[in-house]
Amino acid sequence: MARTQCTDRVVGAILASWRYDISGIYPEMRKDYENHLTECGHCRSRQKFHRSLDATLAVLTSLAVFFFLFALAVLKHIKPLDHVAFNVFGLDIYDMYHMLFSAGIAGLCFSVIALALVMTATPAPSYLGGIASERAKLIEEHLPEAIKALRPR
Ligand SMILES: [Zn+2]
Repeated sequence: MARTQCTDRVVGAILASWRYDISGIYPEMRKDYENHLTECGHCRSRQKFHRSLDATLAVLTSLAVFFFLFALAVLKHIKPLDHVAFNVFGLDIYDMYHMLFSAGIAGLCFSVIALALVMTATPAPSYLGGIASERAKLIEEHLPEAIKALRPR
């Protein structure tokens, strides 16, 4: 990371303690911090870093939820690893199935909790929502006039 210096140490320290998230404070109090973020490249880059970290966490935890659901669906519909259970581990198929199923349920619970924590403790939802609406606006600008005319104002 680039070694830049904050232009205002006091404001920079306050912003750092909030992980550069000012979406939770009142708009009239937000102004000073917004001004600082526009003029201070150091804090701006730190803010960008923390928001991408939040987004990454949100994406990873939702992927974990998805993959555990997928694993449970596979266990439910395909007789899992019959050959491996019998010949390699010497386990009963019933035991193997229950072990995998419990592991899947536990993993699903943990990843849902992790996702809930990320969504409540970080500004990831509003950040991702902002990106989504920006993309939607971009796509809308590139739509042909005929389709634009169909949209209600
Ligand atoms: Zn700064």
